[in-house]
Amino acid sequence: MRVVVVGGGVIGLSIAWRAATRGLAVTVVDPEPGRGASGVAAGMLAPVTEVHYGEEELLALNLESARRYPRFVADLEEASGIRTGYRASGTVAVARDADDLAALDELVDYQRGLGLDVERLRSRELRRLEPGLAPGVRGGAVVAGDHQVDPRRLVAALLIACRRAGVTLRGERAAGIRRRSVILSGGQAVDGDAVVMAAGAWSSGLEGLPAELAALVRPVKGQIVRLRGAGTPAISRNVRGAEVYLVPRSEEEVVVGATVEERGFDVEVTAGAVHELLRAAIELVPDVTELGLVETAAGLRPGTPDNAPLLGTTAWDDLVLATGHYRNGILLAPVTADAVAELLATGVAPTEIVAFSPRRFERVLT
Ligand SMILES: Cc1cc2nc3c(=O)[nH]c(=O)nc-3n(C[C@H](O)[C@H](O)[C@H](O)COP(=O)(O)OP(=O)(O)OC[C@H]3O[C@@H](n4cnc5c(N)ncnc54)[C@H](O)[C@@H]3O)c2cc1C
Repeated sequence: MRVVVVGGGVIGLSIAWRAATRGLAVTVVDPEPGRGASGVAAGMLAPVTEVHYGEEELLALNLESARRYPRFVADLEEASGIRTGYRASGTVAVARDADDLAALDELVDYQRGLGLDVERLRSRELRRLEPGLAPGVRGGAVVAGDHQVDPRRLVAALLIACRRAGVTLRGERAAGIRRRSVILSGGQAVDGDAVVMAAGAWSSGLEGLPAELAALVRPVKGQIVRLRGAGTPAISRNVRGAEVYLVPRSEEEVVVGATVEERGFDVEVTAGAVHELLRAAIELVPDVTELGLVETAAGLRPGTPDNAPLLGTTAWDDLVLATGHYRNGILLAPVTADAVAELLATGVAPTEIVAFSPRRFERVLT
């Protein structure tokens, strides 16, 4: 069984690695593996703090992937010899004023109603847990199960694990797609028994895609800031406010994100966005002012009409979509990789991805 994967972000590489370890012959086509959204992402693994009203099916998939994370990174670290920066340190959601607190209380009620593990904290309890928070914060909640990983380390580890598992990496752009074949920008065809479309925000752009798929994925811009300073970061867990989140990394780095903007394929970093991210971060954690500004970046999330991924076969049974992971692609890598590798190896979609079949849009679009 030969599989051609278009796109070497966290999703394409995770699938390639898991499929190759099951004995499939895998080729990944990507001119710049790891340079898409996966190289920009903050790396929060946050099914609970990211839950949105009405997205319970997606929550179940996110929770399942979070459950699989420890095993996924253990396997990957062993296969690659690279540490992924996975940290089971939890998250605090923080309300800065009365409006934030009212919204947070409502969200905590909703989360608890879904049976999720969330503990509401008063301001003093919150600051005892995270002394770096501003004295004025009004209260919050601790979510013990929402963790983090370093996406750049994850991608580096996946590239090595893929090579060691025998995956062929073709450093070229795919221009078009045919039944059982990917056409490279130079005109050459790479044939396979199945093609996996995992090109993130670019997944709808390939010439020759079935018409009903050509408009499903759109880019959603996100800007982010990386800060660094000597000594330990001012916080020990992910901190999520109403306008901004902060993710502390073990090597003295704090990632502050992120904007959500509908601007097509624009990836310019703007002064206004950086200003807003830093202002909101400093309001929550004042010591952030002392940190050095080491990087600003913008990436493109692969968005879909219902914010949920596209996982499974299409009207072409040899074309599998694994894209549209929007805000949660880092979190969803383990479950996506396991499920798509299973689908490729057996021809049967595992139950956890059935609700995310791309075919759910066929009726709407025809
Ligand atoms: C600012 C920001 C913060 C985020 N924070 C988080 C977070 O905290 N937690 C989380 O879970 N998710 C987060 N995300 C979302 C996450 O980054 C994405 O959902 C995820 O990276 C998608 O992975 P992917 O592999 O599908 O796409 P990408 O990582 O974008 O990879 C797509 C790949 O396809 C390649 N490609 C494109 N076109 C072609 C072509 N024609 N031929 C061949 N290859 C092609 C590109 O070079 C790229 O390598 C964040 C995103 C952004 C932008």
